[in-house]
Amino acid sequence: MVNFDTRELPREKWDFVILGSGIAGLYTACAASRLGYRSVVLTKHTLVDSNTDKAQGGIAAALGDSDSPALHLQDTLAAGAGLCDAEAVDILVNEGPQRVRELIAMGARFDQQNGELALTREGAHSRRRILHAAGDATGAEIQRVLNEKVSLDPLIAVREEHFAVDLLVRENTCYGVLAHDRRENNLKVFYGRAVVLATGGLGQLYEHSTNPRVATGDGIALAYRAGAEVMDMEFLQFHPTVLSLPGVPRFLISEAVRGEGAYLRNRYGERFMPRYHELAELAPRDVVVRAILKEMADTAADKVFLDLSHLDAEMVQARFPTISRTCAGYGLDITRDPVPVAPAAHYMMGGVKTNLDGETSIRNLYACGEVACQGVHGANRLASNSLLDGLVYGGRIVERVRVVAGADSECPVFTGRDLAEPVEMDVARLRAEIQSVMGKYAGPVRTADGLQKALGFFEQWSRLEGHRAVDAEEMEVRNMLLVGRLVVQAALIRTESRGGHYRRDFPETRACWRQHVILRR
Ligand SMILES: Cc1cc2nc3c(=O)[nH]c(=O)nc-3n(C[C@H](O)[C@H](O)[C@H](O)COP(=O)(O)OP(=O)(O)OC[C@H]3O[C@@H](n4cnc5c(N)ncnc54)[C@H](O)[C@@H]3O)c2cc1C
Repeated sequence: MVNFDTRELPREKWDFVILGSGIAGLYTACAASRLGYRSVVLTKHTLVDSNTDKAQGGIAAALGDSDSPALHLQDTLAAGAGLCDAEAVDILVNEGPQRVRELIAMGARFDQQNGELALTREGAHSRRRILHAAGDATGAEIQRVLNEKVSLDPLIAVREEHFAVDLLVRENTCYGVLAHDRRENNLKVFYGRAVVLATGGLGQLYEHSTNPRVATGDGIALAYRAGAEVMDMEFLQFHPTVLSLPGVPRFLISEAVRGEGAYLRNRYGERFMPRYHELAELAPRDVVVRAILKEMADTAADKVFLDLSHLDAEMVQARFPTISRTCAGYGLDITRDPVPVAPAAHYMMGGVKTNLDGETSIRNLYACGEVACQGVHGANRLASNSLLDGLVYGGRIVERVRVVAGADSECPVFTGRDLAEPVEMDVARLRAEIQSVMGKYAGPVRTADGLQKALGFFEQWSRLEGHRAVDAEEMEVRNMLLVGRLVVQAALIRTESRGGHYRRDFPETRACWRQHVILRR
């Protein structure tokens, strides 16, 4: 997206160049350090701007007496609607407990009850297996511990306000990353023996999203531009219960609230989920989302309500302090008042295709966490499996690099000088347009007609190709254009409904579609 010549830029050389400072990126850096590798973590804003920091409900691991990895596997496969890679899930559920114990050893303080880890249950889990911290602030606790670890580790350097622009790839081998340092307003080159994408999700492609502003799908755009394969881009999870008050930022009301017994009611106060699924409020998320949308349409409302008034008020306050506090700030007492909620974009099941060791289709380029797709989530993620996924597959990347990393090689020169002058545009307006198009045509309910309209919108912006971007804001929005197009293309190709992908014109799941959509430039 920019003209450059690596010989003219500041250059650094590391063992691991890690993009992203959420659980996947920071844990990978810690694991690499334990083996004596030096890592640099580039993150486009501050260390804590991540989906990880926002995670509420918890992290799943089969640690309870009545639980086992086999049961966790069964639940994950069932939620994945026929598209999970069973081997990838097997690794997740078997290696997960050990990685979580490591987090505890690093200092993560998960909630306890009577001296034991307090485990809760969430949607589509057959057992209580969700560890949580400070009630509903699990992600912040994990982020705190990892931030502390990397800050104290002499083998890890963190570079905030560094926006990864593009991967440096030649003959299908990745040598490093071109990044833009926002503070100094210049380009820099980071060469690495291994480059790890840990850039998280893409919720910001939608106006209504639980994700923070940084979640714009950059890693997928970088990988795709460099020629890597991306997979399952049509599978996006919308969270059913996001606070919906006029003029108030979208705020997630964790699934754990329903796990503790909250009901969903329509505007007439009717509890509707038992009509839609035998698990009622704890049905898979896509089922709950569509049930809510149907109730909203049937009752001409733009929201439904979570009702916790029948639950013990003290338990509610103790278990969900962040949610209680946030809602109280908007004048809602969650122990008494119905909490208005609506679905919003939440989690990307698809992403950069990797094998079971986190290797992408480009040599020396790895991916883990939400940006990656090794098939653990299939067509729909089981709640609280994503934090775990970042740990397990981040750890596996380091193990793999230990085996395959060859001797330190020369850093080749990369240049790009052919881009024409920037196209004048209003970046903020384009961002809003993308969000509106995605919400309208590539949301929880899709049709060929709508998806074609969205594709038309994205194609009209292909005129930016061949022109350089003015700044990181423009690069980010151009990543959103690319990734939005990939979601729409994959959603058009899949002529069925499955997991997080629902086509009104193809409402059934079709056996012939028990396969992945893989896109490559
Ligand atoms: C509100 C909310 C609640 C959630 N609750 C749970 C839960 O209870 N349990 C669970 O398992 N999951 C939960 N999730 C999902 C989970 O938080 C994420 O899937 C997980 O944290 C992703 O971790 P990650 O490390 O892959 O990415 P992130 O934590 O999103 O980190 C990505 C990092 O990449 C950086 N980055 C992005 N692009 C660039 C670029 N171009 N250059 C440099 N840096 C870049 C970002 O700044 C960020 O630091 C929740 C998500 C949200 C939003």
